[in-house]
Amino acid sequence: MLAVNFTPEQLTVLQQVDAQQNVEQLSALFAKSALDEAELVQVLSTANALYRAGLPVLTDAQYDLYIAMLSDINPQHVYLHTVEPEVLATAKTVELPERMLSTEKAYTLTDIEKWLKRILKAAQELNIAKADIELRVTPKLDGYAAYDDGKTLYTRGDGYRGQDISRAFARGLKVAAKGERGLGPGEIVIKKSYFDEELSEFFENSRNIQAAIIAEKKVDENVQKAIDDGACVFYPFALLVNKTAHYSDIIEHFDDIIAQMWQAVDFDIDGVILEATHSEIKAHMGATRKNHRWQIAYKVNEESAEVEVVNIIPQTSRTGRISPVAELVPTKLSGATISRVTVHHYNMVKSKRIGPGAVVQLVRSGLVIPKIEKVIKEAKPQLPEQCPSCNSHLLWESDHLICPNKSDCPAQTENTLIHFFKTLGNNDGFGPKVIEKLSHYGIKHIHEIYQLQVHQFASFGFGDKTAQNLFDQLKASREIEIEDWRFLSAFGVSRLGAGNCENLLQHHSITALFDLTAAELVKIDGFAQLSAEAIVEGLANIKAEFFKVYQLGFNLAATPKASAQVESSSPIAGTVIVFTGAMQQGSRGDMEKQAKSLGAKVAKSVTGKTTYLVTGEKVGETKIKAAEDKGVSVLTEQAYLDLIAGD
Ligand SMILES: [Zn+2]
Repeated sequence: MLAVNFTPEQLTVLQQVDAQQNVEQLSALFAKSALDEAELVQVLSTANALYRAGLPVLTDAQYDLYIAMLSDINPQHVYLHTVEPEVLATAKTVELPERMLSTEKAYTLTDIEKWLKRILKAAQELNIAKADIELRVTPKLDGYAAYDDGKTLYTRGDGYRGQDISRAFARGLKVAAKGERGLGPGEIVIKKSYFDEELSEFFENSRNIQAAIIAEKKVDENVQKAIDDGACVFYPFALLVNKTAHYSDIIEHFDDIIAQMWQAVDFDIDGVILEATHSEIKAHMGATRKNHRWQIAYKVNEESAEVEVVNIIPQTSRTGRISPVAELVPTKLSGATISRVTVHHYNMVKSKRIGPGAVVQLVRSGLVIPKIEKVIKEAKPQLPEQCPSCNSHLLWESDHLICPNKSDCPAQTENTLIHFFKTLGNNDGFGPKVIEKLSHYGIKHIHEIYQLQVHQFASFGFGDKTAQNLFDQLKASREIEIEDWRFLSAFGVSRLGAGNCENLLQHHSITALFDLTAAELVKIDGFAQLSAEAIVEGLANIKAEFFKVYQLGFNLAATPKASAQVESSSPIAGTVIVFTGAMQQGSRGDMEKQAKSLGAKVAKSVTGKTTYLVTGEKVGETKIKAAEDKGVSVLTEQAYLDLIAGD
């Protein structure tokens, strides 16, 4: 099916697996379209070994296709019923603290419907009403699976035994979402935006970086920087964003749910995971040797095509960056005709030589915007010298060409205004055409638009009816209630999308944000140093315009404060708890689970962030003293149980 030429690095890995490997025969297998059972297993094992080594030879979609072919021939084949083994294993394996199962995969809505029927059947057997069945949906991270017990980080290995890769944490790897160590299974992942901006020129794909993070040899300096910048993280599943939906809503809103999950994280994902949340249903359904029966992964098929570039068009964004847009010979991909694709930045156009006549490989997964996977045939790149909107001489700023004309570039002004009204989303008069006209008449700021009178709109050439309508729309957009995070994100500050705005506003009121320092921002979960600095700078840039608009009197609904949410829930919500010693009234594992379900974070070792140290029997005095020295409250098991009981 595929023409495969192994690279020298891939050949080294294949040698490690089997020194007698006949490479030509192996390449021939990949090229074959009809394979027997043994051949399929050989292709799969080879692909798997290379994947684990960070040198993938197949895309995930291609790998899954081979799996499906094997499953057709022999659904009982042992390869399908063991967790994908790690073939790079030269190091010693150790037993995992808990079994790590993989997830059953579905590729069609019909598969999901079948699985839902099994959930329903289990519920009926337990006399649980259909209306009470809830399902949790999380993004399926496309990273490197690992297990963190708080002391050691393990690879998944064969699901029972993995390798110790704690060195990843020693290199400074952080837990995502400012989580603690010890939260069990998760994935090592790299922020997509960071990969695109900082790493794509050094690495073909993020898989190579995942491999570098855990490799025994010294870490590449670019990867080390990504670790230090907090762009490479270990993401425990327990901390993933998720959405809970009722049983009957899943199929009806399936596309929306998938699309939401896709936008929810800045990491590569290759599908979503659905699982029943009801503990009785989970216990009743149990697990096979390989998967939990109450959980399924929906993987979105990936399609790719080789497409010829016709032209590269520069477009000035609202931030002044010039985006290269490649016009393509129109091509069908996953059901849509694609005729243009945005290239990351002009440095990529330059270094990968993308110009008219170049051929690129385009990839599209499900509903996602297609992207250029690689350049198949190079061509002389086109690099603009002047801003297409204002003719200013363009400058290089790291990988980007930028228009330095911040105050007077029509494209920057118009795109800022369009972004504002689009994000606000409570009026439909101010699209690109109207904004372009206003800009032509010298209207450059949001507050100026809101001050326009009916006769002024008319003098710009709008008909009487339209002029009145635009005026009414502006009035209504101030009167209709709108969330303050939406209002703030409409200003388009870099790194202040809706999610970050909501997070910020859970801690500070909207007008107080402008006085915050980067150090104060970093104290909020979810903001790293670099983002914090960029946000402080971005807020300072919009401050004058923000207050001019704010003072026009919008009907803003304040985001509920995080502290209010915590107070209203359990006595230990938001605290960090460490359990130590032998517990008398239950296993430590059960107590940890219960604490997590009550909103506490459970950590394995005492740090300055720890709230309570809960001590069972046989805990040394020095341990207790050390905790007290750090300002940690030390509780006996009984005192802790009284605390959560609310006594
Ligand atoms: Zn310009």
